[in-house]
Amino acid sequence: MDASLLIQSTYLVAAALFIIGLKRMSSPLTARGGIVWAGIGMLLATLVTFLEPNLNNIGLMITAIVLSSVLAWVSGKRVAMTDMPQMIALYNGMGGGAAAAIAAIELVKGTNLTLTVEILALLGAFIGTIAFSGSLIAFAKLQGIIRKALRFPGLSWINLALFLGTVAVGVQIIISPETCICLLALFFGMALLLGALVTAPIGGADMPVVISLFNALTGLAVGFEGYVLGNPAMMIAGTVVGASGTMLTMLMAKAMNRSISNVLFSSFGESGDAGDNEGPSGSMKAVEASDAAITLTYAEKVIIIPGYGLAVAQAQHKLWELAELLEDRGVSVKFAIHPVAGRMPGHMNVLLAEAGVPYEKIADLDEINSEFDSTNVALVIGANDVVNPAARSNKSSPIYGMPILDADKADNVIVIKRGQGTGFSGIENELFFADNTRLCYGDGQKVVAELIAGVKAL
Ligand code: NDP
Repeated sequence: MDASLLIQSTYLVAAALFIIGLKRMSSPLTARGGIVWAGIGMLLATLVTFLEPNLNNIGLMITAIVLSSVLAWVSGKRVAMTDMPQMIALYNGMGGGAAAAIAAIELVKGTNLTLTVEILALLGAFIGTIAFSGSLIAFAKLQGIIRKALRFPGLSWINLALFLGTVAVGVQIIISPETCICLLALFFGMALLLGALVTAPIGGADMPVVISLFNALTGLAVGFEGYVLGNPAMMIAGTVVGASGTMLTMLMAKAMNRSISNVLFSSFGESGDAGDNEGPSGSMKAVEASDAAITLTYAEKVIIIPGYGLAVAQAQHKLWELAELLEDRGVSVKFAIHPVAGRMPGHMNVLLAEAGVPYEKIADLDEINSEFDSTNVALVIGANDVVNPAARSNKSSPIYGMPILDADKADNVIVIKRGQGTGFSGIENELFFADNTRLCYGDGQKVVAELIAGVKAL
């Protein structure tokens, strides 16, 4: 078989493996396997690249692959589940940056580029560069390196000017017979700044949507650069990531009841920005774990709502133990998961799956909200924003309009949290002050262990 046929067919096999992998990632049951399939695809695509004729810098290529593999392996092993979103933002940014770097090299070489290839290279460069700088800002925000949102009057006009300026320079690059490095530098510089400035004012609670959007953009940029290089694996993988990232972005925006333009061009849910919301009145009423255990044991129906604090406390195993114990006593127990509970899409599903909670016990917001009316106890553990009724009723609240789990409609609400801390959006929660709510203070794992002991003692 000649080398070119072998290379092209291996790229196609790799692309098919990416698609199979992605398909398997759509269910928690097969997701691990999906990662392995896609990983094999990536390995094949990487190895076969070495068969390309006229390769230069093989030593540099191997050094880069070894270095980045070690870095990715170590950081992937070490990262805490709660820090996953910033890790995704960082890696996503690297993908966008890599696509932009490919475009830069092809444009600098500049020889024999057809008009279509040149336009696609520039488009990929533009999108990839924005995804790169935007993702780095998103990383810095989630990591707490940047703590304040950057907003000032006229920012939107600066962004518009940058956008138009980058497009104009891009057109100039296409029409000028020789590509001047200074024009390219200006093009990339403006795109870098645009990505950073678009992301800088975006509020914390919108970050998941933004990261997902940059993920889609990175995919698109990789797809374009795949066309530039004539690499089908990159074209297909990039398009698949672009399409699936777009769908995820739309689903997450829907979960927060926000449009993409609203996320990008208005400020929402930024920590500490509570608008003119005065906060709830009344007081939070504490309950001992032993009393909470009695309420749970004598309930007919309990809905458990996990949130970010469950991940912090790593209480998922104990929580499932408690649920099983209650079921043994004849209590019907379900888990309700809000689409943005935790710090990344599917965060809570992953934790509960890890603890062995069967999928049929887990319901999402649309399925379960009508059931709270007929529920004796809503047990909220480490969740806050996703059960804040202000999202339904308080127009001045920064989370107004976000769909929430209607825990407040249950007969009794028991909330497990460590203290008086607010949620991710930085606002107080009316639910915690309600007459039917009791707060069981302490670290999630410790309190659930006490509840287990309490139920066993009855
Ligand atoms: P929140 O961040 O709103 O609230 C978490 C709660 O957990 C806090 O009230 C905190 O209170 C409590 N907590 C923290 N540690 C512990 C612990 N060890 N034991 C017990 N309780 C603990 O979480 P939600 O899941 O309700 O909401 C998710 C928020 O994160 C939303 O605003 C969402 O937009 C945002 N987000 C979501 C992403 C996603 O993709 N899912 C990504 C990024 C952000 P206390 O300190 O008093 O213990």
